[in-house]
Amino acid sequence: MPKKLMAANWKMFKTWEEARQTARELVVGVRNDLPPDREVLILPPFTALRGVSEMLVQQESFFLGGQNFYPADQGAFTGEISPDQLLDAGCTHALVGHSERRHVLGEQDDFLAFKVSFGLERGLRIIFCVGETLQERKAAQVEQVLTRQLVQGLAKVPGDTGPGELAAAYEPVWAIGTGQTAGTEDIQEAHDFVRAKLSEMFIHGREMRILYGGSVKPGNTPSIIALDNVDGVLVGGSSLNAETFSRIVLA
Ligand code: PEP
Repeated sequence: MPKKLMAANWKMFKTWEEARQTARELVVGVRNDLPPDREVLILPPFTALRGVSEMLVQQESFFLGGQNFYPADQGAFTGEISPDQLLDAGCTHALVGHSERRHVLGEQDDFLAFKVSFGLERGLRIIFCVGETLQERKAAQVEQVLTRQLVQGLAKVPGDTGPGELAAAYEPVWAIGTGQTAGTEDIQEAHDFVRAKLSEMFIHGREMRILYGGSVKPGNTPSIIALDNVDGVLVGGSSLNAETFSRIVLA
């Protein structure tokens, strides 16, 4: 059984000092009670990566990640950041395909496929996000959308990729930042489907982690995390406050 990964996506929130303070409070709040089967990942804004990294020194089971990167080593890509720069700032992980990158910033499946393979080659552990819009759910297209996103987005990933290198996050778009969590039956169905696809595509697909994201809160975490094929959570709004996120991590 993989360890459950409890990930905090701070999006475009927090100054350098606010991020350090939150990370410090989180470490103090959970380190003595963290069950051995749990890991914590913090995804701060780029400006706070180094500052948060300093808070995580020698904290076993705490990891740092980038919310995004551009698939090139260096060059004229104004406003972007490379995998090497994330690694240099102390990151081990990175998100690819978050709903806001797909729907607000227009990233398409073929570009995401390039990002995933590039990030893996450079040594980042990738969390690849998938999920349907409300319109797609109402049109009964959930499986079709998840299939397209997984098959196209992971098309360039070698079939023998290790279980620690690649994880998926099922995040229904309509549940992100809306306060509307998917029901446990819907989560179970989607996670089982993602598991089946990963198992078809990768030798280690049965061991790869699948996180759930979408309005996770302390109150709904226990029922979500107990489901089969749910190997952690990806949390936005409720991860911004150290006390609230500590309750999620320890739920
Ligand atoms: C997210 O940012 O991936 C997310 C799930 O946000 P929220 O928890 O606010 O819905």
